Order: sequence, then structure tokens, then C-alpha cells
Amino acid sequence: FEQDTDTLKAWDKAHVWHHMTTGQTADAGLTMFVRGEGLWLWDIDGQEYLDATAGGVWVTNVGYGRREIADAVHQQLLDLNYFAGSMASKPASAFAEKLLGKMPGMSRVYYSSSGSEANEKAFKMVRQIAHKHHGGRKHKILYRERDYHGTTLAALSASGQMERREHYGPFLPGFVEFPHCCEYRSQFGDVEDYGARAAQALEDVILREGPNTVGAVIVEPITAGGGIIPPPAGYLQAVRDICDRYDVLLILDEVVCGMGRTGAWFGYQHYGITPDIVTMAKGVASGYAAISCTVTTERVYELLKEDAGDTLGYFRDISTFGGCLASQAAALANVAIIEREGLVENSARQGERLTEGFRTLAERYPMIGDVRGKGLFQGIELVTDRASRQPVDESVPMAIVARCKAHGLLIGRTNRCVPGFNNVLNFSPALTATDQEIDTIVERLDRALHDVTPTL
Ligand code: PMP
Repeated sequence: FEQDTDTLKAWDKAHVWHHMTTGQTADAGLTMFVRGEGLWLWDIDGQEYLDATAGGVWVTNVGYGRREIADAVHQQLLDLNYFAGSMASKPASAFAEKLLGKMPGMSRVYYSSSGSEANEKAFKMVRQIAHKHHGGRKHKILYRERDYHGTTLAALSASGQMERREHYGPFLPGFVEFPHCCEYRSQFGDVEDYGARAAQALEDVILREGPNTVGAVIVEPITAGGGIIPPPAGYLQAVRDICDRYDVLLILDEVVCGMGRTGAWFGYQHYGITPDIVTMAKGVASGYAAISCTVTTERVYELLKEDAGDTLGYFRDISTFGGCLASQAAALANVAIIEREGLVENSARQGERLTEGFRTLAERYPMIGDVRGKGLFQGIELVTDRASRQPVDESVPMAIVARCKAHGLLIGRTNRCVPGFNNVLNFSPALTATDQEIDTIVERLDRALHDVTPTL
């Protein structure tokens, strides 16, 4: 780009309609990042930032500036840049084999190019199974309050976040919400079997709707934009049992949690369950290419076949950029880095260091009500006082995000999902984070908290 900085900024201001990400909503478009390496970013004015958001929305799992991935993409573009996913290709088959090796019990990979699209594919699989095997009746998809599954209208119809939904109704028929669960805000008080009791809310909705009308349930294993909420003990296992009891498919949205983010290859693997369908996107190629996958069991694949003699798995769907070979080559190089550098293990280890750092800050800042998460996927819930757990006004997390940026640290905050709740800061650095980088996140956050709040 030959143009000077001021011209580029002026063009941006005049012409680019920016996305609303969780962290940068207040200053969308105000910073032009031009280079990255590992967890570090530089803007066009030369300012340096430690990025604890993995590219704003949990994407760059292996960090910025990985030559190995750029080389793999380069080579694939020269060998063969494109042919539709109806044909076999080297990178598609090699990545599917590699991926399924991380997902015992799963069997088939369907490629597309965004998280929303991967979820759309899952919903279409459910609908096709309903039409083929249940006369169209078992078509409903149950989704959970506070979970987000994407921006397209069906994915948004399956999303329980007010901030994203308002203005876009009416939504598609056949998508039904069920209550979320968050141990910190238990609706049953302090009970031992919270997970099982919270899952009961799902069974109640299945029974209310009629089990013979319900085809699938979709959840985020750990809710991301809705508040970094890991499931309580026993919850996902209970959800799995309920799905089995009523012949309902369980779809897990691993768009954020997948590819090592939580300290396991996939978030659900912390909880010992096997889903029917898993969707993934962001970390699949760490932002070096647009790629997503809908992964199913052999049973789901079999259910989609027209008849016993059909060997193709007849899913009536197509995705032009699901056949993007360079994206699959990027995914393969990405997974090789995660394996070779032990990044899943590093995510688990550094996640603990980050949690410890936050707990130390909590000793001095009474506003920190809860620290939670898994691996390098951590949230801090902010309250006006710990006894009442009253959420802080949303201006507080916005101010903290802004002060962090002023101190050279990029962090995120969660979406407004239900009225009054927009009070969680989120932290998700690249999985390559070192001890020193984790400590820098905590130090810079400390400075930002000090700027906006009194200490104990
Ligand atoms: N599922 C989850 C859990 C997400 O957080 C997102 C994006 N933030 C999506 C799906 C949609 O992915 P995409 O933006 O790639 O369509």
C-alpha cells in the first residue's frame, strides 16, 4: 500500500462499515493494526499491544506471523487453488484424518467457511433427517439462552443473545429457547446437584414441545460471548442422557472452544461425553484462512443416506468455499503447530497461571465477583458488591477495556444477553502464551482496574 497513514485512515473512516466485536465496540475502526507476531500487534502508528483476545474474537490460536502456515497456503495455491468439494483433494482428506484422530467417536467432516455456516449445515442435517425418518415432525432445534451460534438468520434464530437478535425478527419457526445455567447465579440457591437440576430445564422444554417434534439440541460447551460460563459438574452428561432418552441429536458448537482453546482439543472432552454433531471454525486455521467444519458420527452420516446402497452420504447441500484447498492446507499446518509445540497442554498450564493472577487481583479489587473458565479461555465477572452479586453497569467493563488498551493490552467483554448483564471481561490470548506474557496481562489489567476503581 503506497498511501500515507492519514490517507488510509481517511478512506477507512469514509468507506468501511466496521463489524461490532465484543471488545472493540466502543472504538470500532479507530485502530489500524498492520503487523503481528505471536501475541503481539503493532498499529500503523507503531504502537505495540499485547493481544489477549486472539484477534478480537478468539481466532488466532497459534498466534500471529506463522511462516509455516503462510508457506503451506502459498504452496497449495501454486499446486491447485480450487476445485469444488464434490471432488477428493489432498488437503481435505489429510486434514479430516488428522482432525478425527483428535475426536474419538466422530467419523465424518463436512467443510464450509464460517462458524455460522457450519451451524447452518448442522441444522440442515437435522431437518433432512426429520424429513427422511420422521415425516418432517422431529424438526425443532432447541437452543440455550445466552449461547450464540452465528449471524445468518437460522443461526441467529438459534441464538439466545438479546443484543444480537434485537432488530432482526421474525425468526425462523422451529427454534425454541431453553434456560441457561450459571453456577455463580444459581436459580436454586447453593445446591450440590446444580448441574442435574439445571439440565432438567431442558427436559421440561422437550416435554412441553413434545419429544416427537424435537430433532436436536445445540449448546456451546463453554458459553463464550454470553459470559465465559463453563458448565456445572454433571450438566453436559445430563444433557447427553436427556437427548438419548428422547432420540434427540446433540450438537456442540465448538467454534470458540475448539482446537485447544480450553486446554483440551475440544471443550466437550473435559466432560466425557460424545456428541452427535460438532461444529468448529475460528481456531481451525487460526485466521490464516476462512474454514469451518461440521463433524458428525457415522450414525448421523448413515441417517442421511438415501438408501443402503448410497455410498455418498446424500446431504442436499453445497458450499462453494467449502472446497477451498488453501484453507484446508492452512488448517493442516495449523494443527501441526498445535501438536508440535504442545499448545493444548500449554493452554491448560497457562490458563491456571492466568486464573491465579486474577485471584490475586481479586484480593485487592472487590469488584471482581467471579473468576472462571478453562485453559486460555477465562472470564472475570464484575459486581457492585460480592454479597449481592449485583452486576456493575455496562459502562464499567467498557471503561476497563478502554483503559487496558491505553496500557497496551487488548481484552474483550461479553455481549448483552439478558437485560442488565454485560459485566464479564474476557481473556483469550494465543495458546503460545509464555509465563511472562501471562504476567504482563495481569500487570496491565491491574493498572486498568486501578484507573477505574478503588482498591480494598
Ligand atoms: N458460534 C460461536 C460460539 C461463536 O462465538 C461464533 C462467532 N463469534 C459463531 C458461532 C459464528 O461464527 P462466524 O462468525 O464465523 O460465522
